[in-house]
Amino acid sequence: MTKVCCENCMVVFSEQKAVWDGADKTEYCPECGEGGCLVRIKAGAFPTPKQLERLRDIYRNGTMVRLVAMSDPYSKLKPGDRGVIKFVDDAGGIHTAWRNGENLAAIWCVDRLEVIS
Ligand SMILES: [Zn+2]
Repeated sequence: MTKVCCENCMVVFSEQKAVWDGADKTEYCPECGEGGCLVRIKAGAFPTPKQLERLRDIYRNGTMVRLVAMSDPYSKLKPGDRGVIKFVDDAGGIHTAWRNGENLAAIWCVDRLEVIS
């Protein structure tokens, strides 16, 4: 299934949820309200350069995060586990040193992390 990711706030939606404005043919992100920021993605797709820049801005080295959801069934990580960001690779893998000792990368638009401020 094709999903839509906002380049601005990096929130992922199902394609149906995007709001299309028939007047100026612009799609609007339901989360931040920006227009023209939605990019269609398929499972396993790489982020666009702009999305990558945004990911690296959100997930800087040393940022503390909490796991919201992880798709990998072999991981021992649980929602709520904490870790520290190492780096974001070109495929959108968010490499994190987890407190439980795992060094698993979270995948952009698949797994969900929350930044702890
Ligand atoms: Zn947005």
